[in-house]
Amino acid sequence: MAHATAADPDVSVRAGGAPGQRWDAVIIGAGLSGMYQLLRLRELGFKVHAYEAGDGVGGTWYWNRYPGARFDSESWTYGFSFSKDLLAEWEWAEHFSAQPETLRYCNRIADKFDLRRDITFGSRVRSAVYEEATNQWEVVFENGRRTRARFLITAIGPLSAPTMPDIPGKEDFKGEAYHTGLWPHHPVSFAGKRVAVIGTGATGVQTITEVAKTAGHLTVFQRTPNWCVPLHNSRINRQTQAKIKASYPEIFAKCRESFGCFIHDADPRNALDVPAGEREAFYEKLYGEPGFALWMGNFRDVLIDKAANDTLTAFVTRKIRERVKDPKTADRLIPTNHGFGTRRVPLESGYYEVYNQPNVRLIDLRETPIERITATGLETSAGPHDFDMIIYATGFDAITGAFDRIDIRGGGGIKLRDKWADGAHTYLGLQVAGFPNLLTLVGPHNAATFCNIPRCIEQNVDWVTDLLRYMRDNGLKRIEPTADAERLWTQHVHDTASRLLATQIDSWMTGVNKNVPGRLKRTFMAYAGGAPKYRQKCDEVAARGYEGFVLS
Ligand SMILES: Cc1cc2nc3c(=O)[nH]c(=O)nc-3n(C[C@H](O)[C@H](O)[C@H](O)COP(=O)(O)OP(=O)(O)OC[C@H]3O[C@@H](n4cnc5c(N)ncnc54)[C@H](O)[C@@H]3O)c2cc1C
Repeated sequence: MAHATAADPDVSVRAGGAPGQRWDAVIIGAGLSGMYQLLRLRELGFKVHAYEAGDGVGGTWYWNRYPGARFDSESWTYGFSFSKDLLAEWEWAEHFSAQPETLRYCNRIADKFDLRRDITFGSRVRSAVYEEATNQWEVVFENGRRTRARFLITAIGPLSAPTMPDIPGKEDFKGEAYHTGLWPHHPVSFAGKRVAVIGTGATGVQTITEVAKTAGHLTVFQRTPNWCVPLHNSRINRQTQAKIKASYPEIFAKCRESFGCFIHDADPRNALDVPAGEREAFYEKLYGEPGFALWMGNFRDVLIDKAANDTLTAFVTRKIRERVKDPKTADRLIPTNHGFGTRRVPLESGYYEVYNQPNVRLIDLRETPIERITATGLETSAGPHDFDMIIYATGFDAITGAFDRIDIRGGGGIKLRDKWADGAHTYLGLQVAGFPNLLTLVGPHNAATFCNIPRCIEQNVDWVTDLLRYMRDNGLKRIEPTADAERLWTQHVHDTASRLLATQIDSWMTGVNKNVPGRLKRTFMAYAGGAPKYRQKCDEVAARGYEGFVLS
């Protein structure tokens, strides 16, 4: 249901009325990107409005209410850095915050900066069409309402388009069924129930660990095992809280300089230059540290050199075998088609030990695939299973999925969906040739998708804000990248990624999703040159009067 605000922002082209520009800028999405962009443009005096499909702010943290949902980023590196007041008043309870606290944080931002008055909730954008004659975007919502703006800014999220598995019969199931990314707002009890979880990615791992605590029986259906390592979460005590608050400038400076804006940065040594005993001790130390230490704080070559990666993969394999009592189950949980860190690493809090519980069973879908969902459960090639509840932890159509779900048309009616059919083409991951005045926050080819994301959101939004200020100050109304700039950037994205072992693996980072038709070809979705280089490139482009763009 659309809730029009007092300003009734969707009425620019009411039936019979003459079309007219209603907004300088429309933002789609009110997650962290949309909220920060709204704030910055409003400060500049722009007429700006955000439209959000959900009924509240927070994006990821509004939708993903599944049991066990929490950060992989250290909470105190994730929060926004732009407001000293907010940093001083907000206190994270845990080093890796759980979803309810993060959603409270998002709401706090909306309250503190009085953002809700410029957001229309319950408004899903269906199409956005650029009109050359007026140099405006016409935005149409699912409920048929529409509005117009000079600039269209997408803040629609890298992981916001949930996907269901391609299994027949899903609508036949008579029990409770949930997708983790569309989790209901009412409490869900697992106590005593027969629960199925389909999917063992980062979300599945968090869900399974939590559901196993109370379910009568839990059956996990795994297609691809992932390399999971301990999160080592803990509460933040009073002294640590004070220390964190006192050192925010250093924390953010460290994030700024690291590859992915995390506090973990690669060790300058090569794995094979280090004696085996010392190397093992280093892995052991990192395995005992919180967060992504083992993944991002490791030897500089473990994600690019196969032999180096093999040593780390062997180490994590041993850890899984130590933790899972039944060797056959351990075998099933150990990935064989990719090395450690070449896909997104799920962080866990007792995940492997779940499989030692008598109420938990693991089913490997490579041995016995699911054939159909039935009224009472599901059938694999080995036979039927009855359940009270099925949880789909089957993730998202990542990075370009939310774009594909909107009919975005640029100059001459060209569809973004068609243009990106064989992979994204962008300039700086922020603009697309043929789509004037469209700005894509946290879009494909942007450093943000490989990032401790709010650190990169701040960079993306500040850059876009400076651009719009520059255009206003110089009487400019239209911006579009040249075809050459787009081609060179897209090539640069692919060249930078090519040295990573990750590009040889099917994953959402390489654009492969077996649940989405047409997503079987590998491409590269993120800028893999690191956030510092990306920032430098964006700054250079701006300093040279927005080189690579045509402004008029
Ligand atoms: C479970 C989970 C855990 C994560 N943990 C981390 C972490 O620890 N660290 C990290 O850096 N990142 C993490 N992420 C990534 C997370 O998405 C980002 O950190 C961040 O929240 C992205 O903010 P955003 O505003 O760009 O996008 P989102 O938060 O996804 O917000 C996008 C908004 O756009 C709206 N929208 C989309 N399409 C439309 C449309 N057509 N019309 C209207 N509205 C639309 C959506 O409803 C949504 O509210 C996690 C993601 C998930 C799913």
